[in-house]
Amino acid sequence: MYTDELRSLLLENLERARESGTFKKERIITTRQGTRVGVMTTGEVLNFCANNYLGLSGDQRLVDRACSILQERGFGLSSVRFICGTQDLHRELEGRVSGFLSKEDTILYSSCFDANGGLFEPLLTDNDAIISDQLNHASIIDGIRLCKAKRFRYAHADMEDLEEALITARGCRTKAVVTDGVFSMDGDIAPLPAICDLAEKYGALVIVDDSHATGFIGDTGRGTLEYHGVTDRVDIVTSTFGKALGGASGGFTSGPSEIIEMLRQRSRPYLFSNTLAPVITGTTLAVLDIIEGSSSERDRLRENQRRFRRGMKEAGFRIREGDHPIVPVLFGHLRDDAALAQEFADRLLAKGIYAIGFFYPVVPRGESRIRVQLSAAHTTEQVDRCIGAFRETGEELGVV
Ligand SMILES: *Cc1c(COP(=O)(O)O)cnc(C)c1O
Repeated sequence: MYTDELRSLLLENLERARESGTFKKERIITTRQGTRVGVMTTGEVLNFCANNYLGLSGDQRLVDRACSILQERGFGLSSVRFICGTQDLHRELEGRVSGFLSKEDTILYSSCFDANGGLFEPLLTDNDAIISDQLNHASIIDGIRLCKAKRFRYAHADMEDLEEALITARGCRTKAVVTDGVFSMDGDIAPLPAICDLAEKYGALVIVDDSHATGFIGDTGRGTLEYHGVTDRVDIVTSTFGKALGGASGGFTSGPSEIIEMLRQRSRPYLFSNTLAPVITGTTLAVLDIIEGSSSERDRLRENQRRFRRGMKEAGFRIREGDHPIVPVLFGHLRDDAALAQEFADRLLAKGIYAIGFFYPVVPRGESRIRVQLSAAHTTEQVDRCIGAFRETGEELGVV
């Protein structure tokens, strides 16, 4: 029975979230995902907050491919993988991802959230240790919670702290260091060479979640392992199809064949949740064809990123330096930064630029920012319009 007591408790908590500024409102989009989207309350805007890094989410080549896969393979499979949910397409995609990342084998999940949720518990016991970057994604944190291994957390990207944790964990049988490849708030890339050095010194596995990198970071889009030249030194990679790789859904874990086989036997989100829909599986193969066939999307993305970073600095904004299409525009050094960032993002939207402001309590006090995400699909003119809207708003609010 849904009691009045529970109802009023929930209403109270929701009200508290509204008051503190953590209540999330959803904007309703009425078009395909892309650089130009229709939004129900504001009309057409330029989208600078999607993870649509390669611009493939609404790509007509993929829509056409998806239609033909639907015709051929139907809509659903109504089964988990090990009963009757594995088509040749699933095995083909696992092989293609393994080849793409130079790993022995790959296991598909409905999401990267599930890949991370089902990764640790089948492999590690209370004799083992997991050492995790403090800013790792929620799904890594949850996956670690589901596992009995001893838990250690190191300060974000702090190699001295990581080494201390490795020393403390010395007595444990298996030690695993886990990190995001790219951290989404700042767009900073994990210091993988140093992490691999320490992991080698202390005999620890290295696990990287490359969700914000697969497909576009590194010369050929293989992600942060390629970017840092550590493909052979990182043992396990998890990632998503829900960002650069078409943006629909699905995730995976790639690594040594025994580890992947153990996950097929024991990983609960794989065993007890429905298989990836054939339309996603088959269309993702076409995504890999596009990524492996040409660098044009990656080149466009890099040009857009550099143009935006350059233009914003010329306009007098502070941005977080980096080499990623996530570009945080910083307000923390300004007075009243939280209110300012909020007002700034509202005015940008009124000018047709959709970017998200993050301010206290979502980020610490004094770290307010507007996070801009570039896409390969943005035209030069659109990137310039975004910079222009920032410049104009900056002048209105006395920020630049
Ligand atoms: C987005 C993201 C996920 C979740 O991916 P889904 O496939 O959407 O579940 C997991 N880890 C990281 C680091 C992410 O950025």
